[in-house]
Amino acid sequence: MDTIDIKQSRVLIIDDSTINIRLLGNTLHDDFQVSVAKNYTDALDCALNKAPDLILLDIESPDLDAYRIFGTLQNNPHTQDIPIIIITAMNEGVYESACLELGAIDFIKKPFNPGLVKLRIQNHIELKMLRDYYKAMSCIDELTGLPNRRQLNEFLSHEWDRLSRTDLPLSVIMIDIDYFKPFNDNYGHAAGDECLKQVADALASANTRATDLCARYGGEEFTCILPETDAAGATIIGQKLCIHIAELKIPHAYSEIANHITISLGVASITTEKEFRSPEELLKAADKNLYHAKSLGRNQLVS
Ligand code: GH3
Ligand code: MG
Ligand code: MG
Ligand code: MG
Repeated sequence: MDTIDIKQSRVLIIDDSTINIRLLGNTLHDDFQVSVAKNYTDALDCALNKAPDLILLDIESPDLDAYRIFGTLQNNPHTQDIPIIIITAMNEGVYESACLELGAIDFIKKPFNPGLVKLRIQNHIELKMLRDYYKAMSCIDELTGLPNRRQLNEFLSHEWDRLSRTDLPLSVIMIDIDYFKPFNDNYGHAAGDECLKQVADALASANTRATDLCARYGGEEFTCILPETDAAGATIIGQKLCIHIAELKIPHAYSEIANHITISLGVASITTEKEFRSPEELLKAADKNLYHAKSLGRNQLVS
């Protein structure tokens, strides 16, 4: 993994006292990108738009309703992973544990020792960056760099939830490389891996809409999720993918249908009639069409 550059990390100070802000700011601004919010609206705005790696929240800030901010940040999926350190002048241990139980990552008591505060913040930011890194890695297929099955499932279930609120269609394409076993058996596993990477790159770059997702489903199978796309649209996209992969002309002397790598595709769509009851059913329908495409002779799409 790349070395963590703490200097690039962002700290958001939420406090209603100018003196406190100056004190903390002076302590931190040489080592971090510091931003400041003095009221509820600015605090939320900064937390959402400045992507802080850490938030310092002065809990005794009546003017900005610190407890409400704390709750809001913790309940918003876009901010709930940002660690919050509570700053307080209170000295009781009960109070400290209550804040930690609420979800604060740590606690700094006033008056504070600047050197110690800096080191603590540094430690928390390093941990946050490690968490972010492993979270991102857990969603990526190592060989191809495409989203993996886990991210595919999350994305699909998110889009599925959105369906209940909109009347827009949703399509999926299941893709499988033809005669890949003989490719592996004859050219070797390393060449097989290289082929998978090339196919993955081609699928990802051909899928141009930012809202689409193309993932490695597993083995030599890939899945595209196309939000707001009906069966006719998905068929056009799928046919383009089919041609695009054939045009890579990856030599395959052991395919029974061509002298290069080809793919077969199955499309399924859900429209306003909501003919499928779950994302799994939708994928299953696409898979069924994929196997139909295989039985019709491969290198083609069934919708
Ligand atoms: P069909 O045209 O019916 O799809 O036949 P096929 O040979 O492509 O299908 P089959 O399911 O029999 O074989 C898939 C092969 O994919 C088997 C396996 O060796 C290979 N494979 C799966 N994952 C990987 C991988 O990560 N790397 C490599 N090199 N090969 C893989
Ligand atoms: Mg205060
Ligand atoms: Mg397969
Ligand atoms: Mg195959």
